[in-house]
Amino acid sequence: MLQVENPYKRIFDSHSHYDDPRFDEDRDELLSSMLSDGTVEYILHAGTNLESGAFGIEYAERFPQFYTSVGFHPESIDEVPDGYIERLGELISKSQKVVAIGEIGLDYHYDGYDRERQLSLFEDQLILANSHSLPVIVHSREATADTLELLKRHRPQGVVHCFSGSYETAQEIISLGMYIGFTGVLTFKNAKKALHALEAVPLDRLLLETDCPYMAPDGYRGKRCDSRMIYRIAQVASEHYRITPQELIDRTNENARRLFSIG
Ligand SMILES: [Zn+2]
Repeated sequence: MLQVENPYKRIFDSHSHYDDPRFDEDRDELLSSMLSDGTVEYILHAGTNLESGAFGIEYAERFPQFYTSVGFHPESIDEVPDGYIERLGELISKSQKVVAIGEIGLDYHYDGYDRERQLSLFEDQLILANSHSLPVIVHSREATADTLELLKRHRPQGVVHCFSGSYETAQEIISLGMYIGFTGVLTFKNAKKALHALEAVPLDRLLLETDCPYMAPDGYRGKRCDSRMIYRIAQVASEHYRITPQELIDRTNENARRLFSIG
C-alpha cells in the first residue's frame, strides 16, 4: 500500500470510484485500513451505471462508514437499459445507504455522447431524485449553461462535483442552495481558476472529494489516488478560509453529513 503522510483525522471523501479496476489488487485491505485508523471517517461511492450502483450497495453493507449513490453517468449513456428509472428505484429501495442520485449530468467534452440523450437522461434522474427527496451528485464538463438551466428548472438538493468552473458559475450554484465539491485539482500548479472559484464558496457549502482513482493531488501526481490524499486539498483550501486543515476537514465532514443525511 502506498505511504501517505496524512496527519489529520475524520476525512469525509464525498466522491470516489472504488469499483475501478485499479483497486482490484488491494481494495478491501485499503478500505479496511483507512476506515479503521480514524484518518478517513466516511467514504461516498459515486455510481456510474447499474453495476457500479450494485457495487456501492455491496460495499455499503460490508463497511459501516461506506455510503453510495446510484445513477447513470453521462458517459454510461450506451449502457442505459429500457426502464432505467425503475431499475434505479429498485436499487434505492434495496439499501438505506443509498444517499444520493449520481453521478449524473452532462459531458460535452467528447463528441461520442449524444447531447439530446444526455439532457433527457439528466433530467429524468433529477426528477427521480426529487421524487425520493434525495440529493444529486452532478458532473458537468464543458456544459455549464445547460447544466445550470436544468438545475434551475428542477431545483434539486445536491453538489456539483469536481468543480472546475468560474467564480460566477460557483456563485450561481451557491445561490441555488447547492454545495460545491473540489478535488486535487485545487492543489495543481495551474489551479488559479479553481482557487478563484473557491472565493465564491462559503465554508458551509464546501465539500472535499478525491474522484479517486483519478485526480491525485500535488505531491502524488501520477499515483493512484485514494481518500487519504484529501489532506492535501484541505491544506490548500484551509489557507483561503484562514483556518487549520483539521478545522476544514471537520467542517466539510459536517457539510457532507448534512447534505447526505448521514450520522
Ligand atoms: Zn466521479
